[in-house]
Amino acid sequence: MAVQTVAGNATTAPVDLGPAAALSCRECGERFELGPLFACASCFGPLEVAYDLPTGSPEELRKRIEAGPDNIWRYAPLLPVPSGVAEKPNINPGFTKLVKADNLARELGVTGGLYVKDDSGNPTHSFKDRVVAIAVEAARAFGFTTLSCSSTGNLAGAVGAAAARAGLRSCVFIPHDLEQGKVVMAAVYGGELVGIEGNYDDVNRFCSELIGDPLGEGWGFVNVNLRPYYGEGSKTLAYEICEQLGWRLPDQIVIPIASGSQLTKIDKGLQELIKLGLVEDKPYKIFGAQAEGCSPVSAAFKAGHDVVRPQKPNTIAKSLAIGNPADGPYVLDIARRTGGAVEDVTDEQVVDAIKLLARTEGIFGETAGGVTLGVTKKLIEAGVIDPTLTTVVVNTGDGLKTLDAVSATSQATATIKPSLDAFRAAGLGTA
Ligand SMILES: *Cc1c(COP(=O)(O)O)cnc(C)c1O
Repeated sequence: MAVQTVAGNATTAPVDLGPAAALSCRECGERFELGPLFACASCFGPLEVAYDLPTGSPEELRKRIEAGPDNIWRYAPLLPVPSGVAEKPNINPGFTKLVKADNLARELGVTGGLYVKDDSGNPTHSFKDRVVAIAVEAARAFGFTTLSCSSTGNLAGAVGAAAARAGLRSCVFIPHDLEQGKVVMAAVYGGELVGIEGNYDDVNRFCSELIGDPLGEGWGFVNVNLRPYYGEGSKTLAYEICEQLGWRLPDQIVIPIASGSQLTKIDKGLQELIKLGLVEDKPYKIFGAQAEGCSPVSAAFKAGHDVVRPQKPNTIAKSLAIGNPADGPYVLDIARRTGGAVEDVTDEQVVDAIKLLARTEGIFGETAGGVTLGVTKKLIEAGVIDPTLTTVVVNTGDGLKTLDAVSATSQATATIKPSLDAFRAAGLGTA
């Protein structure tokens, strides 16, 4: 198979992406000029953004961040975005709530502080707005006129919205059988939406072919040829969690895994904060969460393997249904290096966890949120997550997009005539 390293008709002029200095290969370290590249020309390893990070005192940088806007652009000095980014038309995601979940903590027996980072509060109701906002700036810098992606659902909506706001054309690709909420969210912003008869891995393969074809010329695929930039958006979750904890690292973080990009970049973000002196250098543990019906990384973790064997997904957690996760091996490294773990839960446990979060904290998460909280509960019960330490659970999406998961068991308690007699007969009043 030919590996595509350069794609689209990128401009060759030097680009302004702020502190981003180059792309570097995660495997062999070779450096490349900033451009729409995603695989190393020497070893085909994944490329990531390398920075000239700020050199001032931590105190100065902290003040500068705190004086910034209430969205991800407050961290612009640590992101591959041009100066003045906050003034450009973008969907400006981020700075979502970090909810201290005391009711949930009591229920789970957590005494060290339990928090939910609730990313359902983003503009299109998932964490994908963070990654897309960064990819839009890269697309602009490289002169792309069409924004595209292969998506498990949420990404398509985030790309549609961000392209609309940025004045770019969008054409996004999803598996044809997604939840109605995801399909409508992806279509409503007016771009083109294409359902592919196949699963996400088929969609992704199709997009890789399109990138190499004249049909896809001038197209920025946020999670393919713009992937190194896209991935950096997830670092903002790490920055926000620490800032919202009062510039402290949590002891334990539980993160859902689809391709694994988010998990690896949250780790990168935490490492940067330590390096910059913005938080104290102390150990933290990262835990990855999957659904049993799509658990290639969890299976590899439990078997002690370094390679991830692809699976054919079959789970209600469709936003996480990537059977061949690109960053799987790096997730395994991080879970092992930090002393964390990767675990999975059944669809039934996913539904129970969605309802647990809703019932205890008034947060309605999507199936991915159910996966993450379900795994958290399982690992607490197994004694793997320490209940006496500060723990953050990341809820990455909104339950309104995955209503089918709970609709059968979340219905009206009673339907009655508008009379007190009928209400009394239903046994719901106080008297
Ligand atoms: C995409 C997605 C994830 C995980 O994404 P990665 O590919 O692992 O970065 C998690 N939750 C939701 C709701 C998503 O849409």
